[in-house]
Amino acid sequence: MKGFKVVASPKLSVIIPVHNESANIGPLSSRLFPVLERIGLPWEVIFVDDGSRDDTLEAIRTLSLTEPRVGAVSFSRNFGKEIAIAAGLDHARGDAVVIMDADLQHPPEMIEAFVERWREGYDMVYGQRTDRSDETRTKRGFAHLFYRLFARFGEITLPEGAGDFRLIDRRGVEVLRLLGEKARFSKGLYAWIGFKGTGVPFVVEERQFGASKWSFRKLFRFAFDGIAAFSTVPLRIWTYLGFLISFLSIATAFFFVVRTLLFGTDLPGFPSLIVSIMFFSGIQLMSLGIIGEYVGRIFAEVKRRPLYVVAERIGGAAEVSNQLV
Ligand code: UDP
Ligand code: MG
Repeated sequence: MKGFKVVASPKLSVIIPVHNESANIGPLSSRLFPVLERIGLPWEVIFVDDGSRDDTLEAIRTLSLTEPRVGAVSFSRNFGKEIAIAAGLDHARGDAVVIMDADLQHPPEMIEAFVERWREGYDMVYGQRTDRSDETRTKRGFAHLFYRLFARFGEITLPEGAGDFRLIDRRGVEVLRLLGEKARFSKGLYAWIGFKGTGVPFVVEERQFGASKWSFRKLFRFAFDGIAAFSTVPLRIWTYLGFLISFLSIATAFFFVVRTLLFGTDLPGFPSLIVSIMFFSGIQLMSLGIIGEYVGRIFAEVKRRPLYVVAERIGGAAEVSNQLV
C-alpha cells in the first residue's frame, strides 16, 4: 500500500459502478461534472466497469480523452456491484469518496449537500430515500420485511432508506478496505465501521436508460447475504427449535404412556406417524441447509481469492493499484 500524499486542499473522488450502462455515461457526466466544478475541490471520477458486455468501456475511454480527471478500472468479468464498490474504494485517492449509481437515480446535485455535511465534520453522509414509490409493492414489502428482520436479528442498526449513495471520509474508506469479506453487504459494512454519520433526504429519480439489473432471485440472495453476514441467529434458531421439539416429544410420550395405562392400546396412529416423520425430516433438512449456507461462506472466505480481477485500467485510476493483479 502506498502512503498518503499530503495534499494542500482536500480532494473528492466519485466512484461509479457500471454494468452495461453505455447510454448513461454521457447524460451522467454532463450533469455530474458541473456539480463537481461548482463544489470547487480537486476531483476525480472513477468508473468501475463490472464486466459490461456493451460499449460502456469505450464510452468511458472516449470521455477520459477529453476529461483527464476521469479514470476507470475494468473487471475481467461481472463480479457484482458490491465488489465493484470495493474496487472503487481501492482506487479512489480522495479525502472524501462519493459512491453513486450510473443511471442517474442518484441525483448528482446531492453531492454538494454531502460535501457540506462532510465539512461540518461528518465522516459518513448518506442519501436517505424518502419514498420508494418507484418500486413495485412486492419489492417494497420484501424490503420492509428485510429491514425488520435485520433490526431484530442483526448486530448493527441500518438507517432506514439509506443505500450506497453516500460520501465517506478517507478514514472510513481505509477501514472499509480492511474488510476483505467476499459475500459483501456494503450497507451493513458502512454501519459496522461506525463513525459520525448523518442522512440527507433525497428522492430517487427514474432510471435514465436501460433496465435495472436486479432480479428477484438476486435480491433474495443479497438479503440473505446481508443477514448471514451480520447475524448468527439463523444458525441458533435450530437449537431452540430442537429444545422445543424434544420437550414436545417427551410430553407426547408421557401422554401415550398414561393413555395406554388407562385405556389399553389400540392400533390407529399411522397418519400422525407419517405426518410427524415428514415434519421432522423437513426441519432437519432446513437446518442442515442453513448450516450449509454458513459453511459455504466460510469456504469462500478461506479460499482467500482476490475480490476481483482487473483486466484494464484507464486514466488516473491506473496510478494506484493495491491489488496484486
Ligand atoms: N451494477 C454493477 N454490477 C452489477 C449490477 C449493477 O456495477 O452486476 C451497477 C449499475 O450499472 C448501476 C448500479 O450498479 O450503476 C445500480 O444498478 P441498478 O440500477 O441495476 O440497480 P437498482 O437501481 O435497480 O437498485
Ligand atoms: Mg438503478
